[in-house]
Amino acid sequence: MTRRADLGARRAGRILNLLELAAPDASTWPKVDVDALVARVLEVAEDQRRLERSRVEMMRAYAETERCRAEFLVGYFGERVERCGVCDTCRAGTAPPPVDEAAAPFVLQSRVRHDDFGTGVVTDLESDRVTVLFDAVGYRTLALDVVEGQGLLVPA
Ligand SMILES: [Zn+2]
Repeated sequence: MTRRADLGARRAGRILNLLELAAPDASTWPKVDVDALVARVLEVAEDQRRLERSRVEMMRAYAETERCRAEFLVGYFGERVERCGVCDTCRAGTAPPPVDEAAAPFVLQSRVRHDDFGTGVVTDLESDRVTVLFDAVGYRTLALDVVEGQGLLVPA
């Protein structure tokens, strides 16, 4: 296939992966609507690009955070740990106190919906912000005062 389409193996593999994500059941369709399939593949490719960009933004935030590095990193995966006490920010004393999850407006790992970003999962809570991994746009860190003031996130 790669020779006939003049594609490298890596690019052909990426296209096949996108096809599988876009239409996992396409082989069972009685007749494939190629235009619809191509449109869906392009949507999936754009979703993946947004997710990859958001991951880069999260790593930039990790590099710049004043929070406990362990807390931030584990929070990226939607879990919670105690402050480690040994990372550079803990030793520098810049890490803010842990969030009282019982008093937080959102629950870790709960599904939420945003009018612009769609649905996602709460992955991290800080005293002034919430991070959500949205299905379509990747990670977004939102200011809690704006989220609460405008009712931007609702349970999904
Ligand atoms: Zn630490």
